[in-house]
Amino acid sequence: MLNCKKHIENSSDYLEGEMNAWQRFNFKMHTLICVRCKRYLKQLQQTIAMIGLAPKQQPPAELTQALEKEYAEAMKSSD
Ligand SMILES: [Zn+2]
Repeated sequence: MLNCKKHIENSSDYLEGEMNAWQRFNFKMHTLICVRCKRYLKQLQQTIAMIGLAPKQQPPAELTQALEKEYAEAMKSSD
């Protein structure tokens, strides 16, 4: 099973369709059981849609870093 850190690292690969079937399965399983990662993935999808990136394009590094930072803060404050 993926942990949350790994899951976040893999999020853009998932959205870009750069995973094999087994990786996608693991990713989806984690998203199903983990509310935080589900929220993160949704946020990432919305952000990508908002800035109008084609699925194959890499989101800017600053953007993913900002989201990761936000996510890390959310993890801390909810515990
Ligand atoms: Zn998680």
